[in-house]
Amino acid sequence: MRDSGKRANTTAHSPLSTDLLRRLAPRQVLTSLAERRNYRYDAIQFGETPLAVVLPENTADVVVAVKAARAAGVPIVGRGAASGLSGGAAPLRESLVISFTRMTGLRIDPVRREAHAQAGVVTLAVSDAARPHGLIYPPDPASFRTSTIGGNLAENAGGPMCFKYGVSGDYVKGLEVVDAHGEVHTLTRDAYDLAGLLIGSEGTLGLITEAALRLLPPPRFTRTLMAHFPEVGACAEAVSQAIAAGAVPSKLEFMDRACTNAVEDYLVLGLPRGAEAVLLVDTDGDDLETVEEERALVEQACVAAGGTVRRAGTDAEAAALWQARRSVSPALGRIRPQRMNEDIAVPRSALPEVVREIRALGDASPFPVVQFGHIGDGNLHPNILFDPRQDDAAAVHHLAHQIALVALRHGGVLSGEHGIGSMKRDFMTDALDPVTLDVLRDVKRTLDPADLLNPGKVLP
Ligand SMILES: Cc1cc2nc3c(=O)[nH]c(=O)nc-3n(C[C@H](O)[C@H](O)[C@H](O)COP(=O)(O)OP(=O)(O)OC[C@H]3O[C@@H](n4cnc5c(N)ncnc54)[C@H](O)[C@@H]3O)c2cc1C
Repeated sequence: MRDSGKRANTTAHSPLSTDLLRRLAPRQVLTSLAERRNYRYDAIQFGETPLAVVLPENTADVVVAVKAARAAGVPIVGRGAASGLSGGAAPLRESLVISFTRMTGLRIDPVRREAHAQAGVVTLAVSDAARPHGLIYPPDPASFRTSTIGGNLAENAGGPMCFKYGVSGDYVKGLEVVDAHGEVHTLTRDAYDLAGLLIGSEGTLGLITEAALRLLPPPRFTRTLMAHFPEVGACAEAVSQAIAAGAVPSKLEFMDRACTNAVEDYLVLGLPRGAEAVLLVDTDGDDLETVEEERALVEQACVAAGGTVRRAGTDAEAAALWQARRSVSPALGRIRPQRMNEDIAVPRSALPEVVREIRALGDASPFPVVQFGHIGDGNLHPNILFDPRQDDAAAVHHLAHQIALVALRHGGVLSGEHGIGSMKRDFMTDALDPVTLDVLRDVKRTLDPADLLNPGKVLP
């Protein structure tokens, strides 16, 4: 709890914060500069220090905050755990940040196989609460220990399991949303699927306050293998052949040579440093024979494509293999203090060429570029590693743009799961034709005529 004397010395008395302090409890409104400065960034980008921060505890608090900001003409930025990788939660102007981290109400309905989660519930908490009932929540962004359900749905987050199980939006049965006018709506998936419109809208069309989420029984068996290849094309070919043969792995993760070496430098796991591509695969299901058959199909495809395969014989061995993929973020952090995490998705058949072209761009630039991703969906994360204290931000942005153009040239999209935010907003004119962009702007204008919700994000 803050001490009120200290706050008085450092508080910015904007008309908005005065109004909010009148309408909400003091613990729900942060006004001191020291506190507000903590709400100006996400995982990749710094923005403007907000005018005020509200920590709502329920939907009624959100309504109060939105109406107060609207009356003051102040933009509103929704924020979950700020683990986003496209600048979405970083305010571009002086704004009101509504941080959902205290909205953590969570109820499991095992009969309907549903979770009812407030926006600030941490992703992992849903599965933790569901497990005693014999259920899980499959969407698994690698940030699942910190990211929130509100942030996941605003970005339509994916994860390693999304090839077989789908992305966050596929688990939404309904949403409670506060619109730009401060009105509360309960949205279902019927026509028109307005819940679907809000999913992936990055806080620009409404604020998600609660979600009804579908739960599944966990698969009884999982089998794991790692394969490595002398070239990326062989890895992509193996994945395509395995899928064509009938395997539907639950996880299909790819790391390029630079990424593998970064992890090996960090943890010394015995990874194949010389391999151009490392593939990690899980197959799962309730019938052990089928699960092992699927792993065998993947194994055969890998060997036929010239790969070398290592099977995990036990759960501990499987965990050791997956440790490589889980360690990518800290491993890259040792190379440069910051990274721009691209998130392109391309047809799987285009992956070898895309990986090659991106590597060439990296080699011709002053920045290390490493590539990894969810290869089953062709979702690739080329990471540009840099040091903001000495590297030129414009040069990093230029390289990110070149990478985006590679994806578009090969029939891909700008974002597989991290959203557009401010990072890729300027690339939208490369990705979409003017007519489509105008339709998107019309949608935004209809739902948020005063452009109060997360302005400057998504749409150029
Ligand atoms: C190490 C690491 C690994 C990651 N791995 C993955 C991954 O595997 N897959 C993946 O998809 N992403 C991944 N991410 C990115 C990020 O974690 C996801 O985008 C996540 O969904 C963001 O959740 P958050 O709660 O942190 O949202 P924030 O970053 O706080 O916000 C993200 C966006 O959602 C909006 N928003 C937040 N809450 C609400 C709300 N209640 N209503 C409306 N809008 C809201 C914000 O305005 C912003 O535009 C990773 C990030 C890191 C740092």
